[in-house]
Amino acid sequence: MNERIDATAAMRLLEGNPIDIGERADALRRKLHANRAFYTVNAAITYSNTCEALCPICSFARREGQQGAYVLSAEEVYERACAFAKMGALEIHIIGGIYSKLPLQYYIDIIKAARAANKDFNIVAFTVSECALMARISGNPLSKIYEMLQAAGVNALPGGGAEIFNPQIRRRIAPNKLTGEEWLEAMRIAHLSGLKTNATMLYGQIESPKDVVDHMFKLRALQDETGGFKAFVPLPFRKGKSDIPAKSSATYDVKICALARLVLDNFPHIRVPITHFDERLAQVLLCFGADDIGGTHWHEEVAVSAGAQARDRDAKKLETIIKTAGFEPVLTNSNYGA
Ligand code: SF4
Repeated sequence: MNERIDATAAMRLLEGNPIDIGERADALRRKLHANRAFYTVNAAITYSNTCEALCPICSFARREGQQGAYVLSAEEVYERACAFAKMGALEIHIIGGIYSKLPLQYYIDIIKAARAANKDFNIVAFTVSECALMARISGNPLSKIYEMLQAAGVNALPGGGAEIFNPQIRRRIAPNKLTGEEWLEAMRIAHLSGLKTNATMLYGQIESPKDVVDHMFKLRALQDETGGFKAFVPLPFRKGKSDIPAKSSATYDVKICALARLVLDNFPHIRVPITHFDERLAQVLLCFGADDIGGTHWHEEVAVSAGAQARDRDAKKLETIIKTAGFEPVLTNSNYGA
């Protein structure tokens, strides 16, 4: 039971029966979290959809000057953050596109604006791709960027931009983003700078089972080294307006979730965001290794742009989803009490 799974065993599990892998993942999940399942009350502030990376997987980004392209001002970020504070949000999630015309001070200003709205917010802001852009445009090392963001009010980094590490796949789905190695290095520096982060994986596009296993093992190795990851967040690819084919299925979803719980034995949490999964599937995933269904994610724009349903969610609704699945709901600010 305590023996670590190697890559060969992981491949066998991923290609095998979902019930076998599910039983093992559920046993480990219950050992770590008993019958508890976490959720949060959070909101997204997507400060800009203007992006120069134009990843083929993305339905959200706009080119500079294209109809619908926008950049929020610090005042607009403040107003939105105040509105979310009034609604009871505990966490604010701030991300945007890769847009080199915004100066470093802009990012600092919008974090200060969100912090001014509520001193107690858990502010989770900027993927490491955005942080790397800030380092490039300002000439500062990443460690300095992280230091400045923390001083402005950032509590943690999200886990976005990991996609799939295999360079061949990455060149097709996100050719202009950080490479997998660069993403991992940027996370290593974040952890060494005292920032906790999550880690994502975009699956159900053109990856192979071997790519999934390789991705998880690279995350496990970094977590062994730094211990800086809080949660692994599997994200099923939605085709939206993308030309990249989508191959997601509920069977694949449960196997990915269960495999993550087993391989990532050093990750405290496996989160299946309710923004990305159907509510009933999220309930099933709680029995296949997941222990967190994410948050209300008010004003989420990125998943919605690719076809996820924008639902009205509140704390009560998330509690009910967890309870009717047979678990005990635990409200967290996504730092899990840390
Ligand atoms: S996924 Fe992110 S980096 Fe890629 S095009 Fe969309 S907004 Fe830009």
